[in-house]
Amino acid sequence: MAAYAYFSGTTSRCAPRKHRRERGAMASGEVNIDAFLRESGFDTPHAADRARAVLESSGLTRSGKQAFVASKLDAAQTAIESALVRVCGDACLALDRELTPRGVVAREAVVVTKPSCEICLGSNNSRAGLDAALTLARKKVRRVVLVGGSPGVWDGLRRAFAGADIELRTVDGTSKSHGEKQAEANKEWAQLIIIWGATQLRHAVSEHYKSDVPSGVRSITVSRRGVEALCAAVVESYR
Ligand SMILES: [Zn+2]
Repeated sequence: MAAYAYFSGTTSRCAPRKHRRERGAMASGEVNIDAFLRESGFDTPHAADRARAVLESSGLTRSGKQAFVASKLDAAQTAIESALVRVCGDACLALDRELTPRGVVAREAVVVTKPSCEICLGSNNSRAGLDAALTLARKKVRRVVLVGGSPGVWDGLRRAFAGADIELRTVDGTSKSHGEKQAEANKEWAQLIIIWGATQLRHAVSEHYKSDVPSGVRSITVSRRGVEALCAAVVESYR
């Protein structure tokens, strides 16, 4: 559920939670507020204080009360999720601001621990992928050819791009059968070609993509390893 929610076009940018109804619920049908907030990801004192203030200003609880009735659970969740955004730091805050449509008031940011960050969900790859996907969307780039890397890393990149309108074609840099014809077709199709020099690349394969690149197609060479670094290089190339 990483980035897809951000590109789904729905009004809520928060993915539905599986066991939402059980959060903080007590046997008596009451919901302990501290537990509810902690389990909802407001896991720092400041974040919990701000979320509690939202519940109070929404009339869902009053100062000094420790619990509310379980029937208010959905309303409480909606109130805090529409008023506050949980971020782990400035990078995720900047992404939230970029994701906030023009004319919509940005939510108040509260800093939480990394795993509770609703932008990156605690994953550097997810954050970098979202950043790259936003950059590509802004530049109207949808078709990307990646030369090099392994199936595991390609999967990681696809996960990082999850939900974004990006088609990724991958080329095995060690292939002995990847010929000029395939390379020409990929170059004609691509809007962005990434030659991943940090991975095993046969000279014959990479050369296909370094020469005769059609005008208007961006070609970049990335010499760093890992999905996060690859995504960062994409963002930098458009700066
Ligand atoms: Zn984050």
